[in-house]
Amino acid sequence: MIEKITSSQQAIDMENKYGAHNYSPLPVVLSKGEGAFVWDVEGKKYFDFLSAYSAVNQGHCHPKIISALTKQANTLTLTSRAFYNDSLGPYEKYITQFFGYDKVLPMNTGAEGVETALKLARRWGVVKKGIDNDKVLIVCCEGNFHGRTVTVISMSNDPSSYTNYGPLTPGFIRIPYNNVEALEKVLTEHGKNIAGFLVEPIQGEAGVYVPDEGYLKKTYDLCKKHNVLFIADEIQTGIARTGKMLACDHENVHPDILILGKALSGGVLPVSAVLADDDIMLCIQPGEHGSTFGGFPLACAVAVAALNVVKEENMMEKAEHLGKIFREHIKNISSDMIALVRGKGLLNAVVIKEKNNKTAWDVCLKMRDLGLLAKPTHGDIIRFAPPLVIKEKELIEACGIIKQAILSFE
Ligand SMILES: *Cc1c(COP(=O)(O)O)cnc(C)c1O
Repeated sequence: MIEKITSSQQAIDMENKYGAHNYSPLPVVLSKGEGAFVWDVEGKKYFDFLSAYSAVNQGHCHPKIISALTKQANTLTLTSRAFYNDSLGPYEKYITQFFGYDKVLPMNTGAEGVETALKLARRWGVVKKGIDNDKVLIVCCEGNFHGRTVTVISMSNDPSSYTNYGPLTPGFIRIPYNNVEALEKVLTEHGKNIAGFLVEPIQGEAGVYVPDEGYLKKTYDLCKKHNVLFIADEIQTGIARTGKMLACDHENVHPDILILGKALSGGVLPVSAVLADDDIMLCIQPGEHGSTFGGFPLACAVAVAALNVVKEENMMEKAEHLGKIFREHIKNISSDMIALVRGKGLLNAVVIKEKNNKTAWDVCLKMRDLGLLAKPTHGDIIRFAPPLVIKEKELIEACGIIKQAILSFE
């Protein structure tokens, strides 16, 4: 029998003793979620303003997604790709039409999606663009976050991500984010060996850095000029979070390779996907890439339901509308602890200026006490990203909690 958790402290102690110490969670132990809310072990209710890093855009335990999950779970969960199944084809047709691509390559975690996109771009670079196999380059951005595998951390300039993990994967050039000239320079100098430019339309983990208007379009155009693939990591920004289905839609950019994850399952299963047209996708042939679980029937059923819900419930318009209200309310808080408010749709961040030794972490603890959960990223930045099902009056109530927490340090 497994030990039953009856108090938050008991769960925290157990994780500390038996779990690897690769995270430092805010001290709150959750046991239930519904819509925009979560409850702790003691029964206290909270606004969830992290949404599992935007994986739960559709809200916790959305009934239509859970229903798709349980229905499929009772029928067929996994076949492996050694055989065909009757869930994958319909899902592939649905998602490719949904986002406007010829083909999809299904994976599980976001990092695997990124790995897949890198392999696909490198392969395209060699077989279609004619780059020497040993010379293929991918351009990435400073401040990026694309996941945690060895190859993916090889792109990172965050020391806590890459330090002491041994030799990194070569073949990346890192340029400043939100800097069109930097891309132009690198493409001019190394263009013939560059297969792709990998970019987050908004850098989420870095602290919700929104690039200047026109950045995506201009970098996309430069990529076209130099025959380089424009690869968008929309794992966090995609699926209605920023007020459009994709953050790239704000500038009408259709990436050559699109990477999705997180909310693709509404936070129910790890489901990621790489989308591209035939010219690119068919560069990978049978036996050359794969995953035991990638595109498993359970994931297919869940992803279709999760995308359907986003459309049905107009989550794009909601995120756009509520995001404006959120930023307005937070900007109106008069505290010198608020250095900056930025974001798009319901992906927002507040930069906290330390006051009397009180930091973003203290603000998050205070908000927790008042019934709202958020987590600092990079020390002084708090990301605010509630599930998109949050109602307007709930959002306003939540803004009141944030205000009360910050003003408590005046
Ligand atoms: C979360 C995230 C990833 C990694 O996804 P995992 O499922 O944690 O592997 C990659 N890129 C971006 C932009 C992300 O936000």
